[in-house]
Amino acid sequence: MCYAIPGKVIEIQEKTAVVSYFGETKKAISELSNLKVGDYIYAQGGFAIKIIPEKEALEILATWKETFFDLQETDLRLSRMDLEKKRIDRKAGLIFDKVLEGGKVTDSDLLYLLEIKNKETLELLYKTANFLRQKHLKNSCCVHGIIEFSNYCSQSCSYCGISTHNKDLGRYRMTKEEIYDAADQAINKYGFQALVLQSGEDKSYSIDDLCEIVSTIKSKWPCLIFISFGEVGVEGLRKLYKAGARGLLMRFESSNPRIYGELHPGRGLKSRIEHLEAAFQLGYLIITGGLIGLPGQTVQDLLNDILLTRRLKTEMYTFGPFLPHPKTPLAGMPPPPTKDVLKVLAVSRIADPVNAKILVTTGFETLESKARELGLMAGANSVMLNVTPEKFAKNYAIYPNRAHAGEGIQEQIDSTLALLYSIGRAPTDLGALLK
Ligand code: SAM
Repeated sequence: MCYAIPGKVIEIQEKTAVVSYFGETKKAISELSNLKVGDYIYAQGGFAIKIIPEKEALEILATWKETFFDLQETDLRLSRMDLEKKRIDRKAGLIFDKVLEGGKVTDSDLLYLLEIKNKETLELLYKTANFLRQKHLKNSCCVHGIIEFSNYCSQSCSYCGISTHNKDLGRYRMTKEEIYDAADQAINKYGFQALVLQSGEDKSYSIDDLCEIVSTIKSKWPCLIFISFGEVGVEGLRKLYKAGARGLLMRFESSNPRIYGELHPGRGLKSRIEHLEAAFQLGYLIITGGLIGLPGQTVQDLLNDILLTRRLKTEMYTFGPFLPHPKTPLAGMPPPPTKDVLKVLAVSRIADPVNAKILVTTGFETLESKARELGLMAGANSVMLNVTPEKFAKNYAIYPNRAHAGEGIQEQIDSTLALLYSIGRAPTDLGALLK
């Protein structure tokens, strides 16, 4: 089972390989010392991660070729704009025209779009975002796997079900061997090419332990590794990059320093953002974003969240709803409505049309059973599947009733692929289009 299709290297310029996918060319940074023109590779997030034997690559490509073009055709059909503008808010209509003509969209335009209430106008917002996604990034959809290896956390975030607030949670900590087994399964049995390793802020794993975990996985089974251990410090980030991590998943949660301060005792937004900036400087791909529907959050805050995500040169936007957990101080607060989450996804696409990967989060799927399809049709183009062994996953309870809890990995893959195929998306990670 493959989530990335092999590409053929047609040119190498220093560390950059030009890779062809059925004639469509992309660039990938190569850290493979023996890479040469004519090799077939898997690339993830713009990194060449693995050379594949030619025979195996050609077999995979033969089975993919027809599907690849069929999917593109379906996607193109479903993302066509319908220019019928009855009952559309006039100002929003003008902004959509500007967006579609490639004009410059201002911050106040984006704010206006986030404030849309009219149903028909909202539908057109989602369609416009989907059109842009198709135009710039075609039909590729990232499918990353996530291993949540510890639910111990030293932090007291007011919304989080694995924070110190939750005294009733059964805590677990996977051993290195258990983590390797989970990674081995995800990569070799299920075919994931990109893995996120996530945990609470658990000091039981030293930076050296975390480095050992990253380097062992990477050397045994080449893949793209994202780390998500919370704030490990700039030196920690440097060591983890050296060990082989190439991505950082860390939300800034809220770009409003007051809200951030209220929700994260003993922590400040400045330090969170400095981590993200330092990681980008070190060469990490950044996955970040915020929570939607936090108490006291305004539409202007949401716009600022999107703008901050863009300013941080984010590879993948991760915006999900705040979901109240009964064992936390925010237990009584309501979650946001589905349309607020969709608006943020769509406006993120309009704010960053050409490069952004935008995730449909499990949190959104927990709020709304059709979230994946709705999100993917409103500008999003990424999903993450949980590949944590079931006996642990049930206790990674950041919010209640997590979507896909109790589903096996194969079951998740099957339903994801069925949905992706039905809307013409290819579960590949083809990186940025070559100009
Ligand atoms: N320790 C890491 C960190 O600080 O980024 C990763 C673990 S943390 C539990 C992962 C994410 O869970 C957070 O970024 C937060 O947005 C999300 N999360 C926690 N509680 C949540 C809740 N009640 N509703 C929605 N998302 C939540």
